[in-house]
Amino acid sequence: MRIGGFTKQSFIDWEGKTTAVIFTKGCNFRCGYCHNPELVYPELMERSEDIPETEIFDFLSTRKNWLDGVVITGGEPTIQKDLKVFIVNVKKMGFAVKLDTNGSSPEVLKDLLKADLLHYVAMDIKTVLEIESYQNICRVKDRQLLLKVEESIEILKESGIDYQLRTTAVPKFHTKEMIDELQKEFSYCNYQVQEYRETK
Ligand code: SF4
Repeated sequence: MRIGGFTKQSFIDWEGKTTAVIFTKGCNFRCGYCHNPELVYPELMERSEDIPETEIFDFLSTRKNWLDGVVITGGEPTIQKDLKVFIVNVKKMGFAVKLDTNGSSPEVLKDLLKADLLHYVAMDIKTVLEIESYQNICRVKDRQLLLKVEESIEILKESGIDYQLRTTAVPKFHTKEMIDELQKEFSYCNYQVQEYRETK
């Protein structure tokens, strides 16, 4: 996997758990408000060397009795071709796995869940489920995008595992009506609205 960042200990990335957090390089979205452009834009990604998987596994082997789990985030982890093998190896070490995703790869999500590799999934709901609004934020031309996001939501609903849907509310992109609509639509599950924080 292409890994651009690694937090050795976090108490905030998986509620109630002490975790290591792995940031994968590369994303198929181009959200205008992204806080991790160095994990998204190829020209920025190549400015830093990838962290070797061996470095991650060597560290994890020293924390088996300390960490509860590993969070895999990005970028967008589901575009990594060897994500599944990586998670299998993390699980073999005895760690629970949380996956953060933008929901654009339902087939990957389904495959990981079918293989019983995930303990928790946090999925972004970028905005109301309407193609123009979604494309406006993600800046992705794929007209199938919304169908993929909706399919990922259905997969999580059927999965039986704990999951969270979440929206980062950005004044430039979201109206109060949109947030109200989202809260109503996802009132059946753990849905969170996060406040966008300016970085500069
Ligand atoms: S999906 Fe996440 S990582 Fe990718 S561009 Fe959007 S905010 Fe950034």
